[in-house]
Amino acid sequence: MTAEAAPAPFDVFIVGGGVNGCGIARDAVGRGYSVMLCEMNDLASGTSSAATKLVHGGLRYLEHFKFRLVHESLAEREVLWAAAPHIIRPLRFVLPHHKGLRPAFVLRIGLLMYDTLGGRKLLPATETLDLIKDEAGKPLKDGYRTGFEYSDCWVDDARLVALTARDAADRGAKIRTRTKVVAARRDGGLWTIEIEDQASKARETVRARLLVNAAGPWVDMVIVEALGQNGAHNVRLVKGSHIVVKRLYEHERCYIFQNADGRIIFAIPYEEDFTLIGTTDLDYHGEPGAVTITDAETDYLCAAASEYFKKPVTHEEIVWTYSGVRPLFDDGASAAQEATRDYVLKTAGDKVAGALINVFGGKLTTYRRLSEEVVERIADIIGHKGQRWTRDAHLPGGDFPATGFEAQVQKLAHQYPRLDAKLIRRLTRLYGTKAGELLGEAREAGDLGDHFGADLYAKEIDYLIANEWARTADDVLWRRTKLGLRVMPQDKARLSAYMAKCA
Ligand code: FAD
Repeated sequence: MTAEAAPAPFDVFIVGGGVNGCGIARDAVGRGYSVMLCEMNDLASGTSSAATKLVHGGLRYLEHFKFRLVHESLAEREVLWAAAPHIIRPLRFVLPHHKGLRPAFVLRIGLLMYDTLGGRKLLPATETLDLIKDEAGKPLKDGYRTGFEYSDCWVDDARLVALTARDAADRGAKIRTRTKVVAARRDGGLWTIEIEDQASKARETVRARLLVNAAGPWVDMVIVEALGQNGAHNVRLVKGSHIVVKRLYEHERCYIFQNADGRIIFAIPYEEDFTLIGTTDLDYHGEPGAVTITDAETDYLCAAASEYFKKPVTHEEIVWTYSGVRPLFDDGASAAQEATRDYVLKTAGDKVAGALINVFGGKLTTYRRLSEEVVERIADIIGHKGQRWTRDAHLPGGDFPATGFEAQVQKLAHQYPRLDAKLIRRLTRLYGTKAGELLGEAREAGDLGDHFGADLYAKEIDYLIANEWARTADDVLWRRTKLGLRVMPQDKARLSAYMAKCA
């Protein structure tokens, strides 16, 4: 009897299916490395679904003289928008000027820098607004006369992760969700990694030449618990919460408000009928997965928005809240909002001993650049393969012109004239050119299978199970879509039962 040969080790094994882990997997597999990624829960179930969802340079980072970070982030806006024009779109920000802010001419100069630093091509430039005449002044309290309007982009953060993972898998990466990395040991230049299926608790081992720890807020926990290195303290966990209220105003622009405490909050048009308000910045010491908004944070966000809007924002209007934990590299800043948003990579070991790359910090905006940098390091350690390639590559469903979203909606509507216009728009927003693949032969609502409330049908759920690792009702309702805002509890229970049957 011959002994069965052990499977070949992966070149790269990645811990964590947030935006950074999936970005690294996609870049690495696209250059020819063999890649496996394990996520202990659902894709984007950590910080990467809890962001303010801006692809932005970060106006306030300019004040902290973070020119490199701002420049890199600004440049990424149009790169990411071109890669995924379904889930990323330009957004205009209105900054109402008042006495508590810097003088108007200083803000104008700052915004001019913001306009020019990052090589803006398609995004419109900054403008000065007369808030007495402009529609943007209407929902605001009396007394705001001048404002500034500038550009950044908006992203569906959780879908950015799912689509990045899909692209990585299409290129050959092995992606396992609900699979926790419980231990990893170096063994003669190779890592032996023990992984555990979170449903069955079955364990198996895989081997890899290089380990990337992209566990976000859990990065130190992985170092301590899975790698057995005591006392790791690299990240400062900073909690941020958001509230979602019924739509506060009619136009499509977002507001950026500075509070008396110097912090800023955004009020952003959200999912057609809502306004998203956030965020807070509070040091956090608990289990990252257990983070929730406190009453004090809710009060703070309501009060901060009510300082500006004519109609006060009250607890009664809140339809949903979410909180996340920023895994910021601990640079010793005293205030949570001043801790660096830049990413830091640290390598330990080498090709002979087995190498580890730990990823600390970062933003959604810079995930592609961070991934490039990690893969450059991988190449330096285990040998070069392909070149950088992600700058000009689309994410799944994003293969249409950046400014072509409306044309894409029309195209799908033309293909499916008997389907509801709102459904067509929503599917184009989430799936881009893949929406036709999802709808297939369906011609009318009756062809879409069981109905689970709002405009959610079995056809979409089946697609998400088959293509995007959706396993539970929350995966579908809160991460692959935001239909959780519209689906009733009884429909959610039926959805859970349906998904359990499909498992
Ligand atoms: P995560 O998304 O947390 O991913 C890490 C993953 O690792 C998790 O899914 C976790 O389950 C998994 N994991 C942990 N341990 C294990 C294990 N042992 N085995 C397997 N898997 C494991 N950035 C922007 O660019 N724009 C914004 O507007 C913005 N707003 C933000 C607002 C808030 C309130 C917050 C909190 C962050 C914001 N960010 C923003 C930052 C951005 O969201 C994060 O930098 C980014 O999502 C971090 O991604 P990550 O992949 O490092 O971490």
